[in-house]
Amino acid sequence: MGGFFRVNLIRQAAKLTFNSFCAATSLARIKLTRSPSLLILTYHRVLPEGHSARKIEQPGMVISPSSLNQHLTLMRSLGATFISLGEWLEAAERGTNLPRFSVAVTFDDGWQDNYQYAYPILKKHEVPSTIFLVSRRINTGWQFWPEQILDLLINHADKLRDPALAWLAQDITRCGYQTGTALTNEQADAVISRLKSLDDKTIEEHLANTRSAIPELGEKPLERHLLNDDELLEMRASGLVTYGAHTQHHYRLNRLKDADRLQQEIVVCQDDLKDKGLNPVSIFCYPNGDISSKGEELVKTHYSAACTTERGWNQTPAKPYGLRRFNFHDGNGSSVLNFLATMGRPV
Ligand SMILES: [Zn+2]
Repeated sequence: MGGFFRVNLIRQAAKLTFNSFCAATSLARIKLTRSPSLLILTYHRVLPEGHSARKIEQPGMVISPSSLNQHLTLMRSLGATFISLGEWLEAAERGTNLPRFSVAVTFDDGWQDNYQYAYPILKKHEVPSTIFLVSRRINTGWQFWPEQILDLLINHADKLRDPALAWLAQDITRCGYQTGTALTNEQADAVISRLKSLDDKTIEEHLANTRSAIPELGEKPLERHLLNDDELLEMRASGLVTYGAHTQHHYRLNRLKDADRLQQEIVVCQDDLKDKGLNPVSIFCYPNGDISSKGEELVKTHYSAACTTERGWNQTPAKPYGLRRFNFHDGNGSSVLNFLATMGRPV
């Protein structure tokens, strides 16, 4: 056996041992915890293997319907009480007895696939969930800028040397891109991470300018990626799905300087959802987990609780403005071992 393979094998064995240890920690916690705990499972997109939308998606954003199904089945078999986040918070506030092991399911951003692929699974298991919506993007064909970037870098690699893409050139070169090939998903993901040093509005303006300079980019009408009113109202009527606020435009809030804009994104977002008859719960979810102290003040004034991107379990009484969650995707949720290990890994 060559040295490279031996090192690789040892690495894999070490990873497996570590994952098994974390999974065992997680199981022990589930079985032994006496005081009520809340575990929040978070998802973004739910798409079957081979779905075309997966090609232009970041690795940490997608899980398959079969993995979601497996997570819910496993949690129930381990004694979980599924509860909507809103109901759990209300009960905690009233001081009502909470289940020993509560599990709440949340989805961020309001993707159309939540209706198409996740909702049937939620119905099958009768599991309640909360979807955090970007109010001014509902009913639109809008794409989040990371998906637009991925589309550009993966599907339009022939345009990468166009002067209209000069604003991206340095980031593309730094991620190891070789002229003449398309970027891999990992390279494109690295470009997205680098771009986060700019604010969202600036990136969107760059993209709009690029699209008008290279007409072929805008030729194909965009598929609708986000939920529409009919889908939202149908899920709401089932009693299984509730909605929370995730800003109006999904701008990262720590980068918004304008006080009025901040107010709109945080406060008016909830009014938008009310106007649509969606009866939102009073829970805010920070895009990308980012917030400024001014923004946090607004959230505390106008909402009863907020979800973060921090990993971890929540004890009762939880800090309602710092709810921790576990975000699942193919990379950490496609097997029972990975799923359990993610919840047992040291934070
Ligand atoms: Zn989001």
